[in-house]
Amino acid sequence: MNNTEQNSLHIPSCLLCQHNEFKIISKVDSKSSAKLLIGLCEHCGLIQQILPPTNDELTDYYSQNYRVDYKQSYSPKPKHVYRASKTAKKRINFLHESNITFGSLLDVGAGGGEFTYLAQKNGFKSTGIEPNIGYSKYAKNEYNCNIITSGLDDITGKYDLITIFHVLEHLSNPIKSLEKLYSLLKEDGVLFVEVPSIETNDASPHSIFFKAHLFYFSEATLISVASQYFDVIKVDTSSNLKILFRVKKIASKLELPLSLSIEVTKKRMIKKGWLEYLFKGNGLIKPLKKIVQLFKENKIKNLSGKQIVDGFFKDEII
Ligand SMILES: [Zn+2]
Repeated sequence: MNNTEQNSLHIPSCLLCQHNEFKIISKVDSKSSAKLLIGLCEHCGLIQQILPPTNDELTDYYSQNYRVDYKQSYSPKPKHVYRASKTAKKRINFLHESNITFGSLLDVGAGGGEFTYLAQKNGFKSTGIEPNIGYSKYAKNEYNCNIITSGLDDITGKYDLITIFHVLEHLSNPIKSLEKLYSLLKEDGVLFVEVPSIETNDASPHSIFFKAHLFYFSEATLISVASQYFDVIKVDTSSNLKILFRVKKIASKLELPLSLSIEVTKKRMIKKGWLEYLFKGNGLIKPLKKIVQLFKENKIKNLSGKQIVDGFFKDEII
């Protein structure tokens, strides 16, 4: 984008480095085909919406797109609980493999409550927060676990572990939100973040860029966004991007990604597409995986949410 175009669009500066020179990498929403400008910051490599919606527009967008949930009658289908439980189990395993097995846990964006409940059964003292009235009500009723119907801003207290899965990319200022998480963690507290990885070759080109995602993180940019308050313990880039962070003893200055990693991200964006997804990602075997999944979901279609999560806990459901 040249300077004249940028001036006429009043492009806000990059969240991470405050520059406003972007390489445009997509112009359409992958789901709706509506216009959506996605830019890679030339200075730090953070990929973000160039003209992000205002907070009011975001609130509007969510209330319209999640209308059913606001009627307070939300009840996820067994197949949705099955998928969420399977993912929750993998996340618990990731924590256990990292020798994190107990303590007070705050799960930010608890959704239908599957992870909050499964973590409680696995030795954590869990609290979930979920702003959506329908989801949080369902989670409380179905699992009888501690779910607060709230956004992050109103939460207080100190926790050993905070988990935040597929939330950070939706927030208007992830740096501020991470500062809030830092304030909620005890000394030596751990933060477990999971976001979609912009560098994976395992995402269908049909579902990469869309309005609800304001940021598209790589390992380097997520670490940078968290760098004032957190040190990295462990990174897993095998599918979605999972990073375990530990609270810094003393908050420091934000560290920008190295120029080498910016070049890597730029090159990755050029290669991304159907060919890579089909032949290097799992694109070709996804239809087969889908059939196996449908078969498994058929077997649990008459179970309650609690029966499904309990089944995963006891390894009776896989
Ligand atoms: Zn930047």
